[in-house]
Amino acid sequence: MSKLALLGGKKSVRSNPKDVFTWPIINKEMENAVLKVLRAGNMSGNDITKKFERGFADWHKMKYGLGFSTGTGALQSAMFGLGIGAGDEIICPSITYWASCLPVYSLGGTVVFADIDPKTLCLDPNDIEHRITKRTKAIVVVHYCGRPADMDKIMAIARKHKIKVIEDVSHAHGALYKGKMVGTFGDASAFSLMSGKSFAIGEAGILLTNSQEVYQRAAAFGFYERAAELTLPEVAAGAGLPWGGYKYRMHQLSSAVGLVQLKKYPREMAEIDKSMNYFCDLLEGAPGISFPRPPKGSKTTMGGWFMCRGLYRSEELGGLSATRFCEAVSAEGSSTETGCTQALHLHPLFRTVDIYHQCRPTRFANSNPGLKQPEGSLPVSEGIQTKIFRLPWFKRYYPNVIKEHAAAFRKVAENYRELLPGDKGNPKNVTNWGLTTRKK
Ligand SMILES: *Cc1c(COP(=O)(O)O)cnc(C)c1O
Repeated sequence: MSKLALLGGKKSVRSNPKDVFTWPIINKEMENAVLKVLRAGNMSGNDITKKFERGFADWHKMKYGLGFSTGTGALQSAMFGLGIGAGDEIICPSITYWASCLPVYSLGGTVVFADIDPKTLCLDPNDIEHRITKRTKAIVVVHYCGRPADMDKIMAIARKHKIKVIEDVSHAHGALYKGKMVGTFGDASAFSLMSGKSFAIGEAGILLTNSQEVYQRAAAFGFYERAAELTLPEVAAGAGLPWGGYKYRMHQLSSAVGLVQLKKYPREMAEIDKSMNYFCDLLEGAPGISFPRPPKGSKTTMGGWFMCRGLYRSEELGGLSATRFCEAVSAEGSSTETGCTQALHLHPLFRTVDIYHQCRPTRFANSNPGLKQPEGSLPVSEGIQTKIFRLPWFKRYYPNVIKEHAAAFRKVAENYRELLPGDKGNPKNVTNWGLTTRKK
């Protein structure tokens, strides 16, 4: 009989403590903070949100923080804050959650996609410069799946061409790049704080910037109630109504949770970091799989290791499909799946859909009509789905449990030959447009 659980053997993972994967971690202090806001009927104010903004910005040593109802709103407002408007282009990796770029449509702009580095899954600095045109206003950098992007190279390119940088930090709260926090490099940064993310406080987002102008423009865009804060003459002249026609205020139940989360997140992040590094250490040298961790001692960290991906090399495992590999690991009692978010440039919204009735697809109507990024044009992004898999995301340092999960991966990798018969290969579409765990 086979050793592998998928083929009738014993499962590697036997212990299943309830809290090893539980996220977010909710404590009494949070519950009390929420009840206090509810009982005071203070859900729609912004006094607590302003405290949270100050706390979050101070944590990053940034001047301004602006709290939003979603990370999507924070990204759109960061774009508006930087002056992105009609006919402008942003450069964004094709592998990211759609909100990194899609809101630019509503500003009258468009997106040009760049490829990713197959090891880091972040924007490839070598694929940016040739995409810069006179319409390019900003690069959107995503610290994808917990790993900081190559900020030295990206910032150098942006400075050379005098274009702005927006960091989308929705996957890497608290991570360091060469000792400096991500979210502090660009002209503005935006974070999702929704409940699946590493810094999870409900349904919320935040924008950080050191620029008074970016802050005030972003505040003017979706916060009519902040009129008194708008002091720059050109912004104050339009104060009192939201320029975007949006209302983006953060829910105060979220900001109340956020104030408590600010206190405990560093501790939680440290425990996650210890657990995930232990897991990766245990799998060092296993055939066919590896983990793109920042080099030890480099002062670059993975923050909360959000939905971290490992690299899969089918060729080292006799051509075993990533899908079959993941099935076998899951059968061992661990949990994994292949892929990440799909390459955005292949979606009809970036190819054919005419959202605003401009008689042309919005992507091209909003800017360069000659822009073409057909299938095949971003090979790394298009091919990545069967070369990566999701790691179990340990929130607690339980060495014995982590050992069992590592054993599941190692057992499958080492016994791959048994899985080759019956391998149906990868299905055509292995993933979807978000990162939430897919239903089995
Ligand atoms: C989640 C996410 C967002 C959007 O944040 P919401 O809070 O869900 O609106 C933006 N960018 C990335 C990379 C994300 O993962």
